[in-house]
Amino acid sequence: SAPLSGQAGIDAAEAAGIKLTSPDRVVYPGQGVTKADLVAYYVAISERMLPYIENRPLSLLRCPQGRAKYCFFQKHDTGGFHESMKSLMITEKDGSQEDYFYITDLAGLIAGTQMNVMEWHLWGSRIKDVEKPERIIFDIDPDEGLGFADVRAAAITIREELQGWGLETYPLISGGKGVHVIAPLRASAEWPDVKAFCKGIAQRLADNEPDRFVATMSKAKRKGKLFIDYLRNERGSTAIAPWSPRSREGAPVAVPITWDELETINAANQFSLADAAARAQQPDPWKDYFSTTQSITTAMLKKLE
Ligand code: ATP
Ligand code: MN
Ligand code: MN
Repeated sequence: SAPLSGQAGIDAAEAAGIKLTSPDRVVYPGQGVTKADLVAYYVAISERMLPYIENRPLSLLRCPQGRAKYCFFQKHDTGGFHESMKSLMITEKDGSQEDYFYITDLAGLIAGTQMNVMEWHLWGSRIKDVEKPERIIFDIDPDEGLGFADVRAAAITIREELQGWGLETYPLISGGKGVHVIAPLRASAEWPDVKAFCKGIAQRLADNEPDRFVATMSKAKRKGKLFIDYLRNERGSTAIAPWSPRSREGAPVAVPITWDELETINAANQFSLADAAARAQQPDPWKDYFSTTQSITTAMLKKLE
């Protein structure tokens, strides 16, 4: 696919009123992708990405010297960001109030990039009611030695399990090694119930096929297995945003795909920034995502006990 045009990125930043410093700094050395190219990527895909990222508390991975250098996760505003990186106060477990970032538009994506954000990680809830998640994620983490065929098969098993509970899901290749199986929800149940449901599902799959799946964090127990990481579904935990670049070798993107398409995909990192930008011009692989209305009910929780 065609390379991204850095000039388009510089123009978009200017139009948004954001001063893009060091636009020619290379942020993906392997691909020669510059900071301005990265802004151009967001211009190309923002219409697709914004519905998933807007109005959610964020955790940012910042890499001030590009992807191969020092990176750090940042949740709270320590200054220096343009005003289109907004913030809200959230009450923490200990009762204290902390500020979290959120964005609502392309200017937010550009403002983050100006501050060297290379990955956007999302809460499962939106800012209007942070206690009620509107999606759940089963993050499939393969042990070393397992291949993408194992991950693919696991995603299908999880999909089928959730269909049995009346939940439709959408697959995201993470840009790393795994697939995230995502079910959009109506924001009705609160975090503790949602987490209990996800834990119950992961445990059920591991109980059914203990040689294949594991549902506990313990590294020792994961040997040769697929860890079903249900812990993305806790208040305050995050997962990579659909369409977010990853700060990894090859400039990969976390890309929404269709279930049919999964059959033809050979790696979770197979879409580069340029590929994803081209893909955003194609039909939306998750076109029914926002019209899927479903929830986790008390009846479902009872049945899992
Ligand atoms: P892969 O497919 O390679 O596993 P992934 O995005 O699923 O890619 P994980 O290592 O499984 O990566 O991590 C899951 C999520 O946990 C991350 O996407 C991120 O949101 C969160 N996370 C991991 N480490 C941190 C951290 N240090 N601070 C904040 N969040 C983190
Ligand atoms: Mn993962
Ligand atoms: Mn994980």
